[in-house]
Amino acid sequence: MKFPIYIDNNSTTPIDPKVLEVMMPYLTDKFGNAASKSHRFGIEAEAAVEHSREQIAKFINSEPGEIIFTSGATESNNLALKGIAEMYSKKGNLIITSPTEHKAILDPCKYLEKHGFEVAYLKVDEYGSVNPEDLRNAINDKTILVSLMIANNEIGTINDIKEIGKICKEKEVLFHTDGTQAVGKIPVNVNDMHIDLMSFSAHKLYGPKGIGALFIRSKNPRVRLVEQINGGGHEKGIRSGTLNVPGIVGFGKACSICSEIMEDESKRLVFHRDRMINRLLENIDHCYLNGHPQKRIPGNLNMSFQFVDSEGLMMEVKEIAVSSGSACTSATLETSYVIKAIGKGEEFARSSIRFGLGRFNTLEEVDYVIDRITIAVNKLRKQSPLYELFLEDRKS
Ligand SMILES: *Cc1c(COP(=O)(O)O)cnc(C)c1O
Repeated sequence: MKFPIYIDNNSTTPIDPKVLEVMMPYLTDKFGNAASKSHRFGIEAEAAVEHSREQIAKFINSEPGEIIFTSGATESNNLALKGIAEMYSKKGNLIITSPTEHKAILDPCKYLEKHGFEVAYLKVDEYGSVNPEDLRNAINDKTILVSLMIANNEIGTINDIKEIGKICKEKEVLFHTDGTQAVGKIPVNVNDMHIDLMSFSAHKLYGPKGIGALFIRSKNPRVRLVEQINGGGHEKGIRSGTLNVPGIVGFGKACSICSEIMEDESKRLVFHRDRMINRLLENIDHCYLNGHPQKRIPGNLNMSFQFVDSEGLMMEVKEIAVSSGSACTSATLETSYVIKAIGKGEEFARSSIRFGLGRFNTLEEVDYVIDRITIAVNKLRKQSPLYELFLEDRKS
């Protein structure tokens, strides 16, 4: 086994060697600008971009013309939310989302709230799922957009996107989804799911960082939005800027690999995940799974170890790369707003660890992590005054 062991695949994934291989020529000899139509270098780059666009479109069952390249899901989310808000501000001002969305949705929403829009946050249940009926009741004639994620980045819970999409379609309200944790992990079909706009990102599916896409439906309905970056008119004027050709080529290859192996890979990841959940629950008392027990993305488990501080636990198992909450919120040392939103309280949030199993993790690594976490939790509890008190309480 090689240390440290990487079990944080929900924050980013390592690049697949097959992806790197197809990118290399575009970082060296084939360096052309895809917008240069007057010579071979540009034409070759453009052809590679269009091939990749087709691979990505096919993977989510869209048309190639409905894929707009961006720098990642954060930018895609900003483009979708602000672009739709600006385009439809005369029609209405209400946006509907949920409190467990990624910050890349919540922060643009906060921005829009400062600029005259209203944002309604649907409550989520104890697993972090949105009830589609709550959405139906929340939509009114001022609603211009619904944005609800397919799968949560911290607790892995998968929303009933097909039902949510159906309601939006019935009510004739545009539906955006942050698909970043789902695309490449579970089947995503923008037509079956009635999705009008979807953000996703290459580095969460074994592609390179700094490249993502926004799917924008072109018919039934034709979605229009206001561009947020002005420049040379690239990507039909929706997102200007010289295209990241090596990134795009890698993104396309990463999607085509996922489409080939996703079914088998997801079976293996579910096996690894459930082994870890079941053994940790067996080995350790007062240990709880956060998120839905079944409706969750294959590689993700999020556990709270009562009486143990997650920061202390991570220090104790330094040879294992995991995270408490999400990478984005760990930077601020704030406990997870997602765990709090599902009603688990501060103590659960402070003792939660996210394990993100991925393509390159072995069963040997999974078993090592189970053993190490068990030992570390027991050791830290022995040193914990809170745990002592709890045991004494139980005796008396
Ligand atoms: C990682 C992630 C993002 C941000 O994606 P970037 O490509 O890193 O900008 C947005 N939403 C979700 C759900 C994510 O998991």
